[in-house]
Amino acid sequence: MSTLFLVGSVDLSEVEKANKLSHNGRTLFDRQVSLSDIDSLLLRLYQDRLDLSSGWNYETGISLVLYNGRASFKNNLNEIFKKFFPCFNIVAIDSGDGEGIGKFYSGLEEEVSVMQDRIKRMSHWMYYRPSKPCSSRMYSMMGHLLTVHRDGLQNRVPIPRTIRNIDFQSLVRKTLGKDDLFYWQNLSTWEFQAHNLAYTELIYCSFLLLKKLSADANAPISDNKLFLLLLTLESSYHQVNKFHNFKHAIDVMQATWQLCERLVDDPLQTLLLCMAAIGHDIGHPGSNNQLLSQFHSPIAENYENHSALENMHKDFLESILTQHWPQLLLINSSKKLNKANLDILTEAIMATDMALHEGYVKKLEHSPRNDVIDFATLLPLIIKAADISNVTRPLKISSQWACLITFEFAECAALQNFEEKKAYDLQDDLNCNISLLSPDKLVERFPSIPNGQIFFIENFAEQFFTEFCTRLPGLDFLIDNMETNKKFWLSKRQ
Ligand SMILES: [Zn+2]
Repeated sequence: MSTLFLVGSVDLSEVEKANKLSHNGRTLFDRQVSLSDIDSLLLRLYQDRLDLSSGWNYETGISLVLYNGRASFKNNLNEIFKKFFPCFNIVAIDSGDGEGIGKFYSGLEEEVSVMQDRIKRMSHWMYYRPSKPCSSRMYSMMGHLLTVHRDGLQNRVPIPRTIRNIDFQSLVRKTLGKDDLFYWQNLSTWEFQAHNLAYTELIYCSFLLLKKLSADANAPISDNKLFLLLLTLESSYHQVNKFHNFKHAIDVMQATWQLCERLVDDPLQTLLLCMAAIGHDIGHPGSNNQLLSQFHSPIAENYENHSALENMHKDFLESILTQHWPQLLLINSSKKLNKANLDILTEAIMATDMALHEGYVKKLEHSPRNDVIDFATLLPLIIKAADISNVTRPLKISSQWACLITFEFAECAALQNFEEKKAYDLQDDLNCNISLLSPDKLVERFPSIPNGQIFFIENFAEQFFTEFCTRLPGLDFLIDNMETNKKFWLSKRQ
């Protein structure tokens, strides 16, 4: 799904000439949108992205913005895209730059076909090696990381006026159908129904929660800045992933908060842990560390094959927070990092690497019963528990997550075959609203779910949650739900 944006008074004859020259009159864009100025363009990008049903997520195609270079536009639009819409495949070119437009069209057809194919797209994200930041119009993890490294602490720039002026609050609020009480009721239970909420509702839930936590922790942030932070986080996750997307991030944040409510007294620790949770999978490609290493991803090399994804998520989050909420990570908004706070974020995100699972189980086994666990040990355990908490949610919710992870695993298997130049077989895309399907119906449609769930519960979750709930008070409901779910999956096993 690619868009051609015409911004300002663009000379259409130039556009058509370039289009015809390159593609014999055939356009590769699915739509053409004319807008008066850059402000309306940025607003349109946010609106499209938040409306999932529209299909305009800017990840499944390559979009071009042609703007009139004579317009009084001081900021570099491509820099804004990389910073505020990191996952988008979008490029801006001055409509008078015939050479630039010509270059844009060369190779475009092939690139669009890559971005439309789930497996080729993942492969590009993971293995493409850009020579410098922003050197490709197709998103890649290494390109994203290079941009973040280039814009490190020393090179932080203020948020441009065109972005600051957007009223994010009304953009999100105007689509909501319910009042705050409804969202708080949803947030405040272990039955948080992420799949029943629209995307803007999920963003609003995270806004409500973080606003409360920031007040509790005496770390204020204005409403509009908080919305911008959340939308930047969202645009840094791949919406097209089946499981590892922003919905998972919000689900883990909600679970983290629910656990903190029972286990943590310090409001700042709770706030930091919830921020770690919402950022803990930023830029996730929907695959895993093993596939990154096996086929020599530059990301795996960059982190020397050591928790590559988790290190990358941490670097992305650190960069976003120093830009959007410097009070949380910097000392007096200087260029010095607040090491204590950064350590909490880092250890929390590292704890979500499943390769370290055994180590965390052992840590729990060796901590004395009926004794207070020190917070340095406890905080990473909380986010780890939240990250794998799908199996401890009530069955209806748990089965929806199970379905999504089953699909993502199938894509990993297909990617492995693709990289080995073998034929790959991919289940149909998930073209149904899973929140409407009961657990029984889900198993009927996707019969491989029970085996996957039983394997995960027996090999990872049971041992961890048994130790976790034995040592910490008030958490028996986690085990109860998990055992109920396991019984259901066993009854459905084929
Ligand atoms: Zn996760």
